[in-house]
Amino acid sequence: MSGAEASGALPPGATIGIVGGGQLGRMSAMAAARLGYRCHVLTPEADGPAAQVAAAVTIGGYEDAEALTRFAAAVDVVTFEFENVSAAGLDLLAGLRPVHPSPRILGISQDRITEKSFMAGIGVPTAPWAAVHDVAGLEAALSRIGLPAVLKTTRLGYDGRGQARVATAEEARAAFAILAPHPLVLEGFVDFACELSVVVARGQDGGIAAFDTVENRHRAGILDMTFAPARVPEEAAARAQALARRIAEALGLVGLLAVEMFLDRDGAIRVNEIAPRPHNSGHWTIDACPASQFEMHIRAIAGLPLPPAIRHSDAVMKNLVGPEEIALWPMILGAPGLIPHHYGKAEARAGRKMGHVTRLFPRDALPGQFGIAAALGCLAPRDE
Ligand code: AMP
Repeated sequence: MSGAEASGALPPGATIGIVGGGQLGRMSAMAAARLGYRCHVLTPEADGPAAQVAAAVTIGGYEDAEALTRFAAAVDVVTFEFENVSAAGLDLLAGLRPVHPSPRILGISQDRITEKSFMAGIGVPTAPWAAVHDVAGLEAALSRIGLPAVLKTTRLGYDGRGQARVATAEEARAAFAILAPHPLVLEGFVDFACELSVVVARGQDGGIAAFDTVENRHRAGILDMTFAPARVPEEAAARAQALARRIAEALGLVGLLAVEMFLDRDGAIRVNEIAPRPHNSGHWTIDACPASQFEMHIRAIAGLPLPPAIRHSDAVMKNLVGPEEIALWPMILGAPGLIPHHYGKAEARAGRKMGHVTRLFPRDALPGQFGIAAALGCLAPRDE
């Protein structure tokens, strides 16, 4: 018996259950295969990105007790690439198999109010915020937090959906009437210098591996590009690392966690949100690190040791979003230096993440804006 098996780690040949059928599940399954594991995917979609590369698939909804039970019976451990499973669904799975990260952590991250309350409880700064249950609560929140602000749904928001930036009280009232379900959260608008994120893994033995702090650029509310490492002072990057580690420890995480943050113009860092799963801003690690975020994720949930999160190259990751960008695929394949990742989605809808491209640079030699534009060729950054 190997050391890993003696310590209760999953042996090669074991089956990892992944809830969710998108690209995060696909890339997790590919990393798991390299470690000798099979992946079994639970997804409502028969031919989605993860199902295409998985050893087995259960087709079913995330709230379908019969499908969840059948899925759990076929796997050794359960993890997620899709977070929004109901508490009842999570309890059902957790009653049948080990679930990592734990349902408690998913519960915290699923709801902006619990998430922000958790951050406040452990002394991690966020934008000023208030829960808004009704119109009177909105007025009170506006007078406390001020304008401009961002009004957000507490659950199920992603890629900028379920939120509205508001500059006046009238706009806030109009947004309150449209956004659903209530309650909502009103957040002070952060005039950030840049957005940062850290992907951190924590193993079953409590060991932590955190990937370098990266910088994210969004376009129309969707991640467009990640720069690794972040082009910020070392001291700020180190503070972001410390915050991510602190959150992972306070949560008692087993698995992977992405922490999205704002770096204010005055140098303060505020946490925007957390996601206890592989994250789009960690895709660069596939090509720029010996063990990617997906491998770290699989290692953590399988009880394997975590290697250090080493960055052997600098990287720029560019998402391929919607029909316009995936239409460049033939050119991308012919462009020297662009590392292509296609998610296998049949239909390219507007705003849908279809793939990504990574461009590597020597370590500590990320070029400036023009160098990056030249290196990305047909995918060069565009203005807002
Ligand atoms: P979220 O859904 O909270 O991740 O927000 C999506 C994006 O909206 C963030 O990555 C930011 O670019 C922007 N955003 C969200 N909240 C705020 C805020 N309080 N202040 C400024 N920008 C924000």
